[in-house]
Parts: sequence; C-alpha cells; structure tokens
Amino acid sequence: MRIDVVSLFPEFIAQCAAFGVTGRAIERGLLTLEGWNPRDHAEGNYRRVDDRPFGGGPGMVMLIDPLRACLREVRAADPRPARVVYMSPQGAPLTQRKARELAASDRLVLLCGRYEGVDERLLRAEVDEELSIGDYVLSGGELAAAVVVDTVARLQDGALNDAESAVQDSFEDGLLDCPHYTRPVAHALGDVPGVLLSGNHAEIARWRRMQQLGRTWSRRPDLIDERALSPADRKLLDA
Ligand code: SAM
Repeated sequence: MRIDVVSLFPEFIAQCAAFGVTGRAIERGLLTLEGWNPRDHAEGNYRRVDDRPFGGGPGMVMLIDPLRACLREVRAADPRPARVVYMSPQGAPLTQRKARELAASDRLVLLCGRYEGVDERLLRAEVDEELSIGDYVLSGGELAAAVVVDTVARLQDGALNDAESAVQDSFEDGLLDCPHYTRPVAHALGDVPGVLLSGNHAEIARWRRMQQLGRTWSRRPDLIDERALSPADRKLLDA
C-alpha cells in the first residue's frame, strides 16, 4: 500500500516512518509513505500558500493552485488510482471499521489543512472524502494524518509480529479488549486472576469474553447493540 501526505510540514510525517509498527511496515515493503509540500508549487518570492477569506473574518485559507499542482504531482507519482482524503473536523469519524476499509486500498492521499482550512472549491474538485479523528479542532491535519497512517499501517498483512493481536484489539468485534496481565503473578499491586494461570483454554476464553462485555457495558455502552448479542454473550453479560 502507498500513502502520500500533502502537508505544509512534511517533516512531521517523515517521523511516522521512523518508529514502531509503521517503521517496520515500511521496512518490510508493506507500506510506502511519502510527504509532499504544496509550498513547492507556490509562485512568487514568498511562495504563498494562503490568503485572507472572502467575506472577512479571522484567519487564512489555503489557496487552490499550490494544492492542485501538488496533488497533480502526487497522482503522477504512481499509476494506481488514489483515494484522496481531506483530514477535517467536519469529516466522517475515523473508526476501526473505517481504518480496515482504508487499509484495503492500494493508494491513499491524505490532505492536511492548516489555518482556517482549504478553499472549498479545491475540496469539491479533488477530494473523495473527509475524515475526522474526533470532535475537537487541531491546528493542522498532520496529527490526524499520522493517526490514519498508524492505524492503517498496523492493519497491513505482516506488519504486526503476531497477526492475531490486531484481531483481538478493541472494536474489532465491536467490543473493547479484555484486560491483560504479565509477570510477576503476585505483586504488591495485586495478583494475576487465577483463571489465566489455569491452562483451561475454554475457561480463559469465557473469562476474557465476560471482561470484554462487562468493560464495554460500563465504559462504552453505546457500542453494545443488545439485539445483536448472541445468546451466549447475553448469558455472560447477565452473569
Ligand atoms: N475552520 C475549520 C473548522 O472549524 O472546520 C478548522 C480548521 S483547523 C484549525 C486546521 C486544519 O486542521 C483543518 O483544515 C484540518 O485539516 C485539521 N483538523 C483539525 N481538526 C481536525 C480533526 N478533528 N480531524 C481531522 N483533521 C483536523
């Protein structure tokens, strides 16, 4: 998969390539990540990329032409059709389901805004969808793009050392993950639940499922659709 990020601060995105799972996905040839700066396509001595908004009001708006020329170059860098996503607080929420959908694309282009955002005409002409990482406003789209890169990178086949771990993560089956413990068994902060030491796989699976259901019920009841619960889950939830 290839992800191109269009940003006034492409160095920010380069950092994503340096660490952890994203770094490993790139090293393993599962992901190509590249940053592009619209300022490289801006004209004049000042290489302007923004201007004041028509109608007045505070802030600046990103100009159409540098972004358009930049996107043209980005598209030309790879023959595969690109899905262009504008990172925006007004976009559809990024969920695990959405991340899986994005991770299945061959090519993503993430467009990062700054200031008051991007001229609406550019968005209408060039952007396939808008995506938000939450109901709050960041100063720029770079952090949001980094979130998308991370979540999509770890979903590439072979990016995680144990593919099972992604399947067990929160949201994958609609519930939050269960709690995890490691050595030592006994500690001043508490003991590891006995069932996890029992070696009884059926009991361990049952306990974990109960924990998932209980946690989701208490922390994120909005995720639980009672009508969709299996009879077995319903029993565990009532237990
Ligand atoms: N005036 C815009 C609005 O209220 O919708 C916010 C502009 S914000 C200061 C600058 C840029 O940050 C946006 O163009 C967008 O790219 C990015 N951004 C801010 N919040 C975001 C969020 N929650 N999710 C994704 N991108 C966000």
